[in-house]
Amino acid sequence: MTSLPPPATKKLGLVIDLDTCVGCHACAVACKEWNDGGDFGPLPDADPYGAEPHGVWFNRVHSYAVEPGIGNRESGMGKAPRSTPLSTASAIPHSPFPIPGAQAQTVHFPRSCLHCETPACVTVCPTGASYKRAEDGIVLVDADKCIGCQLCSWACPYGAREYSVERGTMQKCTLCVDRIYNETLDEIDRQPACVMACPTRARHFGDLGDAESAVSKLVAERDGYALMPEFGYAPVNRYLPPRPRRGGCGDTSPHPDPLPGGDREKSGDAEFSGVLRWLDRVLSR
Ligand code: SF4
Ligand code: SF4
Repeated sequence: MTSLPPPATKKLGLVIDLDTCVGCHACAVACKEWNDGGDFGPLPDADPYGAEPHGVWFNRVHSYAVEPGIGNRESGMGKAPRSTPLSTASAIPHSPFPIPGAQAQTVHFPRSCLHCETPACVTVCPTGASYKRAEDGIVLVDADKCIGCQLCSWACPYGAREYSVERGTMQKCTLCVDRIYNETLDEIDRQPACVMACPTRARHFGDLGDAESAVSKLVAERDGYALMPEFGYAPVNRYLPPRPRRGGCGDTSPHPDPLPGGDREKSGDAEFSGVLRWLDRVLSR
């Protein structure tokens, strides 16, 4: 089994805005492109245009239709054919809806390694192949030490590990460690490929261990959320909840501003923390 380093003060990670993510998959494709040719590639694909494509993707985007009074269904990724009307019963029980006044909406949920502070994927590793860097908290896999036992994949509750059948080793998000410290790149380009590619600027990168960093301030301002903290792995990445939507084409009221954290639970905004609780449950299956 593998030991963790002493707690790092620097905690590099991502902040992902579920309000502005439009589910375009640009982040997933940019990640694939950079890492396929980078230090941690190749990222194999099998049957990419066939009926059951599969391969290694460090970053995956799931889209969910959320309807008041009906429930939530995952769409895209072949899970919900377009021919299926949205008014059918939810395939995913325990919906946070119905909530009076809630509006139907789609939530796009990008999923990748959260670079946990006390990750089970590292401590279960029998060879030391999975490790957490002391200097910045990034969790990596040393392919030369990995025996492909997949224990880390079982241990990660977030589904963030990607096993390569072709290589026989585990792979995962590296936070583009071969890019963010790459001095041959212009400083502005020393960010993860997914952050660079996002057309809506829904992805932010920085030091979440520094309370004065831009990402930490963003998390504080928007009530940033850690996924399934109850597992005790202390994810570093944060998600920003969706803001309330307008009531439809007849509703001319201005887009509501985000509420301060103390008022969130007392208002209709509670429905959005409900969405996040529901995402927790979906991920925990
Ligand atoms: Fe490990 Fe999963 Fe946490 Fe990433 S999200 S550090 S793979 S436990
Ligand atoms: Fe969402 Fe940005 Fe990724 Fe597109 S690139 S899916 S908007 S996070």
